[in-house]
Amino acid sequence: SVVSAPSHIILVQKSILERPSHVQKELSLFTEVEYVEPNQIITLRKTPNDPELSELWGLVNTGKSGTKGMDIGAEAAWDISTGDKKVVVAVIDTGVDYTQPDLADNMWINSAELNGQPGVDDDNNGFIDDVYGWDFGNMDNDPLDDHGHGTHCSGTIGAKGNDGFGLVGVSWDVSIMALKFLTRSGSGTLAGAVAAIDYATQMGADIMSNSWGAYSTSKALEEAVQRADDAGILFVAAAGNESRNGDLQPLYPAGYREPNVISVAASNSSGGLAYFSNYGEQSVHLAAPGVDILSVTPKGYESWSGTSMATPHVAGVAALLFAHNSALTHLEVKDRILNAVRPLPALKGKTITGGMLNAHFALKNQKYQP
Ligand code: CA
Repeated sequence: SVVSAPSHIILVQKSILERPSHVQKELSLFTEVEYVEPNQIITLRKTPNDPELSELWGLVNTGKSGTKGMDIGAEAAWDISTGDKKVVVAVIDTGVDYTQPDLADNMWINSAELNGQPGVDDDNNGFIDDVYGWDFGNMDNDPLDDHGHGTHCSGTIGAKGNDGFGLVGVSWDVSIMALKFLTRSGSGTLAGAVAAIDYATQMGADIMSNSWGAYSTSKALEEAVQRADDAGILFVAAAGNESRNGDLQPLYPAGYREPNVISVAASNSSGGLAYFSNYGEQSVHLAAPGVDILSVTPKGYESWSGTSMATPHVAGVAALLFAHNSALTHLEVKDRILNAVRPLPALKGKTITGGMLNAHFALKNQKYQP
């Protein structure tokens, strides 16, 4: 039971002292014992105890993959904020496996419907029994993920942190609104996307994470993004995976120039632009980790690559910023993210900022410093 005993000080496990106090008393009877107090673990860095952390190079790159320290600075960021359930991120995708133990606690819940009556639109929002969000692909109230993509993105944003289990997301605590419009096949309709964005706007999301796109433009889609902007909602979107110059051939919605849009390229663990990533000196704002990203799917833990995986890193950092300072506007959050990027040679001329996402300096509201 004695953990360490430097000369005359005895440190015992805390559990011993929480039980009968006679242990403490008896130890104190020895004349050589000056005092007895519980031992404690001293943490310099707020490091979560989730076992898979060392595999998440995008958050904390230990050098196991690529370049040590080539990450978003999550560890230092977590000293400032680890997120807040009050921040709502709408994941507009293939749905979310809200039964996953790493996600269940961080799901957005429509409490009016949870505590309401089955078959009744309790909150009068036009949707009946929309507890977790809505499925705009199958037009029903269950946005459970039968593909995997939306769950993977959600894990990066907000797998529950410091729960001693599985993964940790960028934001340890957050509320993920599940909006499905892509069905089992991974495809969906424009009308479904517009309806999902409008639902998130109506229900007061802070951030929308959009790991999808099309090369044709749509007035209806752009207007939905504008309505989100008018409502003060940040709109993070994937730049696309076709190695294209988005200045010439933009993927939408990432390519819309509405003020709330952040277009995200994918970087690898060595600080390079991912070979597949779209880019654009005038149209893609920054890069974020998007190669071999471990996250959760309905089948278990899987590593996926794509600007789809980069986008939720940015949405997660935006969630940390809103959690840290709820008075920030969506455009202030965007500015902080863009001003704090880590400049990298491979991203110069390929992105507007020439850099990679950095959570630490975004939270400090400073330019990146090595
Ligand atoms: Ca409802």
